[in-house]
Amino acid sequence: MDAAARVLELSETIPDFPKPGIVFRDLTPAFADPTTFRAVVDELAHSIDGGFDVVAGIEARGFLLASALAYSTNTHLLAIRKEGKLPGDVIREEYALEYGTAALELKPSSIPARSRVLVVDDVLATGGSCLAAARLIERAGSDIAGFGIVMALDGLGGVEALTGYELRVLLHEP
Ligand code: 5GP
Repeated sequence: MDAAARVLELSETIPDFPKPGIVFRDLTPAFADPTTFRAVVDELAHSIDGGFDVVAGIEARGFLLASALAYSTNTHLLAIRKEGKLPGDVIREEYALEYGTAALELKPSSIPARSRVLVVDDVLATGGSCLAAARLIERAGSDIAGFGIVMALDGLGGVEALTGYELRVLLHEP
């Protein structure tokens, strides 16, 4: 069974979380399974043509993927955090979530100049958080090598929003 099939089998669908009307896909049971998590990380590690020298995770579930990827590919690890979490000089980008609005922050000094950055996250919905991450990385003087996403929720616009960027999605769900 490949990584996508394993994720589909192990992930859970939770209605009305975190708000009524939202159908939440929970991938953490798939990440908890060592064979599945290893398969996911291995697929994402080889997903981007031209390679990358930084792996950025979007808080919080993206951190799980990014740290494993940075370790397995021996690349620089970058945390893109929700607002108010990073000390010192940060840059900030606001974005719209499937359920509300938020902001992401990045410490420009934490990313080597002119890097090629792979941005990873568990789920792609509207694409707002990935686009905010891209703007932060580009403002910091680096390039997006691509996005590595485990599950894209089709119909919410995320894949379309990332047109122009290299995008690797392991699994598309309605
Ligand atoms: P977007 O910014 O693309 O609208 O939403 C994606 C972000 O919100 C990701 O950081 C993802 O972790 C979180 N997210 C949105 N919907 C879901 C969902 O159904 N399941 C999970 N696990 N995360 C979601």
